[in-house]
Amino acid sequence: MVKAANLGYPRIGAKRELKKALESYWKGDLDAAALEATAAGLRAANWAAQAEAGMARIPSNDFSFYDQVLDTTAMLGAVPPRFAGLDGLDAYFAMARGTDAAPAMEMTKWFDTNYHYIVPELTAGMTFRLANQIPVERFKEAKARGVHTRPVLVGPVTWLALAKAKTEGLEPLSLLPQVVAVYAELLGRLAEAGADWVQIDEPILVRDLSPAEAEALRGAYDTLSAALSKGGPRILLATYFGALGDNLELACGLPVDGLHIDLVRAPGQLDAVLAKVGDKSLSLGLIDGRNIWRSDLSRALGLAQKATAALGGERVEIAPSCSLLHVPVDLAHETALDDELKGWLAFARQKLDEVAALARAAGSGREAAADAFAAADAAMAARAASARIHDPAVKARAAAVTAADLERPSPYAVRIAKQQARLGLPAYPTTTIGSFPQTPEIRKARAAHRRGEMNDADYRAFLEEQTRQCIRRQEELGLDVLVHGEFERNDMVEYFGEQLSGFTFTKNGWVQSYGSRCVKPPVIFGDVSRPRAMTVDWAKFAAAQTTRPMKGMLTGPVTILQWSFVRDDQPRAETCRQVALAIRDEVADLERAGLPIIQIDEAALREGLPLRQAERQEYLDWAVAAFRLTASAVADETQIHTHMCYSEFNDIMPAIAAMDADVISIEASRSDMELLEAFRDFEYPNDIGPGVWDIHSPRVPEQSAMVSLLKSATALIPADRLWVNPDCGLKTRGWPEVERSITHLVGAARTLREKA
Ligand code: GLN
Ligand code: ZN
Repeated sequence: MVKAANLGYPRIGAKRELKKALESYWKGDLDAAALEATAAGLRAANWAAQAEAGMARIPSNDFSFYDQVLDTTAMLGAVPPRFAGLDGLDAYFAMARGTDAAPAMEMTKWFDTNYHYIVPELTAGMTFRLANQIPVERFKEAKARGVHTRPVLVGPVTWLALAKAKTEGLEPLSLLPQVVAVYAELLGRLAEAGADWVQIDEPILVRDLSPAEAEALRGAYDTLSAALSKGGPRILLATYFGALGDNLELACGLPVDGLHIDLVRAPGQLDAVLAKVGDKSLSLGLIDGRNIWRSDLSRALGLAQKATAALGGERVEIAPSCSLLHVPVDLAHETALDDELKGWLAFARQKLDEVAALARAAGSGREAAADAFAAADAAMAARAASARIHDPAVKARAAAVTAADLERPSPYAVRIAKQQARLGLPAYPTTTIGSFPQTPEIRKARAAHRRGEMNDADYRAFLEEQTRQCIRRQEELGLDVLVHGEFERNDMVEYFGEQLSGFTFTKNGWVQSYGSRCVKPPVIFGDVSRPRAMTVDWAKFAAAQTTRPMKGMLTGPVTILQWSFVRDDQPRAETCRQVALAIRDEVADLERAGLPIIQIDEAALREGLPLRQAERQEYLDWAVAAFRLTASAVADETQIHTHMCYSEFNDIMPAIAAMDADVISIEASRSDMELLEAFRDFEYPNDIGPGVWDIHSPRVPEQSAMVSLLKSATALIPADRLWVNPDCGLKTRGWPEVERSITHLVGAARTLREKA
């Protein structure tokens, strides 16, 4: 029999029950017992759903109150000293969210997903112990409900590889023996509780490994297998998010009983794995855990049959490519999507059915799941042929893009001179990144409009008044280049997606981003085009309110792609180019409307970088080309800005320079301008606005602090190429702090001008 297996299920709940419970608990409106009860209810429902769907391997310990990496940190007793004195849930949430006395631990993206984990902190002399037995408790909890589970653990080497050393010179992997000792103890406890298998996730196996990391993997699993030789659960080593590549022999050679591989991202690795897997069981990640499309079951069955032919059905499991954490819970709750589109989609619950059908067919032939296969084939065929997906005009236009379409008429040096003549800005020009505070009043009006309680005309008048006031305030504060404030936008991707064809939106397609925070990515299902201008009305309205230069605000194609569920029937690069052409038309329309400056935000360009070094250049090539395609339709006199919300540029400087934006604004205040060294070393030629105000914190920075940041900047970048701006948009801030901070920012720019 081929087993149907799952690696992890969304924990947030189909109606975001966990989010709501957590937030009430944090507010003090819910007690710990009620929070625990909600969590237990979700776990029970998830186990029941998976059992009902026919999963033979059902995960436990995939639930988390915040994050599975933080769970591991807490379990290992690796609590940073600043949280001493707290315990249980208090300590746990303090690590995640901080307290007045102790700032939160850092958070960063989990591999190339939009899920964020809490970065473990390591200090010299740190000790590890089995500080809690949550994985064991969860196993027993499921067992009490009649569900035999396979507990999931973040692997010890991945945990250490993702950790940050807080002591100078401390090598995280040097702590491996102590960490592995805790895992060995835990596996013993799981065995006592009756677990026969555990799933240990080591996704670092799909990254480029250092020799030390490879050695750590060997050491860790040698130790664990020695410890288990006296009895204990068998280990399924799970890899996902890509191919094993040059780590394939290493992974296949580790002394574990099973291996999970991602055959959605890397179907080509199956043959090589089959040749090397020895006598291990193999879990085939055939159903996409990172996207929402219904699977091509027939194609997947071909791969599954290859594996059963080589290994025999007993040693094969069928599974999603990775945990289903990264997809929404249940398509059944999408009542507003039309049936055609719905027929092309599968959320977590539907993916379980796909796994089950595929496992049945892999074990007993396609006839064993004839209905599911017939339905899947029909859906594939309907989708491929649908006129809603294919727009010949869009395809023809994308195919006709030439190198000349990616070129501005003149080089930066020529452009900037013309732009300066047109704009007449002072030295150290001041501007903001786009959004101004989204006050409760604005959110209320938007919600009322959405519910139909405020009519279009009243809503429009309300937004006009907000925009007018925002522009007047910017003038009073003395900013040089103004923005309209983005009050009409709910979100920087959704706003555009709603107006482009080829996009759709779900009602409940929530995916956990971090902690209680969820995102609902737009779905790009078809060829993308722009039926009409999207921002020109507001831009024109705003420009008419002032005599100062107004900046038109757009989201770039790479960011739109990165923050959406993207169609899987053509390369991402192709979809990105279509989005780029739509935004290019918007840029041209904004220029025609008289906007002298247009900003194209590429907040997510960096996070789209492939995990493997060898794949990065190809990505950067098409991503940069897409940006240039949007930006190159304008005259020299029109100034193109871009904005990026991060401060790591070292490894992507050539791409940043190749984007050739006239002005780039970046996040810099927290790095003390050190990141500008990358720009200096690369001799980055164009204008730069390094953020001088950390907008992630409510703190109002002193003018003197901004002056000193700007002075550091002038030591690295010629003064005549520097702009003065915050780190990012201001939508999450309040007006009082914004007014004070911008007063300081404008004051700092004036101070530098006087010195010049
Ligand atoms: N223009 C957007 C804003 O100001 C940019 C936000 C971002 O890059 N994350 O909100
Ligand atoms: Zn930003």
